[in-house]
Amino acid sequence: MMTDATHDPALRSWVESANGHPDFPIQNLPLGVFIPLDMGPARVGVAIGDRILDLTMAPVAEDVREASANASLNALFALGEGPRKLLRHRLSSLLAEGSGRRVALEQHLHPMEACTLLLPARIGDYTDFYVGIHDATNVGKVFRPDNPLLPNYKHVPIGYHGRASSVRVSGTPVRRPKGQLKAPDSNPPHFGPCERLDFELEMGVWIGPGNALGDPIPIDRAEAHIAGYGLLNDWSARDIQAWEYQPLGPFLAKNFGSTVSPWVVTPEALEPYRIAQPARPEGDPAPLPYLLDAADQARGAFDLALEVLILTSAMREKGMPPHRLALSNARHMYWTVAQMVAHHSSNGCDLNPGDLLGSGTISAPGTGGFGSLLEATRGGKEPVQLPSGETRRFLEDGDEIILRARAARDGFAGIGFGDCRAVILPAN
Ligand code: CA
Repeated sequence: MMTDATHDPALRSWVESANGHPDFPIQNLPLGVFIPLDMGPARVGVAIGDRILDLTMAPVAEDVREASANASLNALFALGEGPRKLLRHRLSSLLAEGSGRRVALEQHLHPMEACTLLLPARIGDYTDFYVGIHDATNVGKVFRPDNPLLPNYKHVPIGYHGRASSVRVSGTPVRRPKGQLKAPDSNPPHFGPCERLDFELEMGVWIGPGNALGDPIPIDRAEAHIAGYGLLNDWSARDIQAWEYQPLGPFLAKNFGSTVSPWVVTPEALEPYRIAQPARPEGDPAPLPYLLDAADQARGAFDLALEVLILTSAMREKGMPPHRLALSNARHMYWTVAQMVAHHSSNGCDLNPGDLLGSGTISAPGTGGFGSLLEATRGGKEPVQLPSGETRRFLEDGDEIILRARAARDGFAGIGFGDCRAVILPAN
């Protein structure tokens, strides 16, 4: 494990709210794009407790400060891991108790609550993978009870190209899509509001330095191309998807909206929570050599708790707290992030700073771990009971879905990703 003084659990910040903060203690230091209360242009900041430090006003390296004067993290992502690691060490010492910079920096701290948080990057391309093996198995069972996984699943990190234009930051409502719907027993299809709207619990991966077209990223170099991690809700219209997806795959069922969390948690912050990629079950094929790297197998997975909560209109009106629908973990990925990156570029496809990769729905084994309603309700057959007395087969207008991620380990300060949330608006 490559931890250092920035991970020391005893480290405290002079920003009081950071000490013991569930998401943003001084050991995290995630990056984001924000507009402060008193307006002005969007710029890059770092989350510390319930505050944001304006990076354009901080005594950090000149290239980082220049890259921070942008309405996206793309330029900062492009600088790569060297400058990013230096920045982490610099911020850690600037924000630590007794740093001597408190007076100079306090005026550049903004209350997060009063800031507008923006999409972290200008996303050139968004690709969605399907590496959550329990989700792939649960969904496959609906169609092929005896043989849920297709023959390619354990050889290829399956993915498809998503739509970047409709990715929005947490807090932006999502409009229920309309589309062609066709129940198996109705003919012909009709056009109307989606009746089987669902969420997908995913981890998002932000790409740092890219690769030239025709120049694949070898798996042992993949980590150098990853800028950080966030949460991704890949909203899905199951009824539109069921009718449209053959033979070319997801299209309008997926591209009406995707929600990402505003903070980009760096690979360095997640270092203490890396684990070995879980061993493949007996009889599974070994990955082909271009997807196999000893270091990646030894430390390429994450022990990261992932949670889905729902807050309906009725619950909100009654003042009830959000209700947990699922608790899962990033360890349930059949392929590592490095394998996703290596596979994506293996044909020469170029990745660019600010590109977004989704892991695919990450479900845990067992009934409390379903990362989508499709799984939790067995395709809408068994409604989920809510504490308000309501039930859900799929999402209704006014429902809000909240994704959270938390990492904890003995001997380290826990960190979190911040919320990834959005409320469903009625179709128009
Ligand atoms: Ca997905």
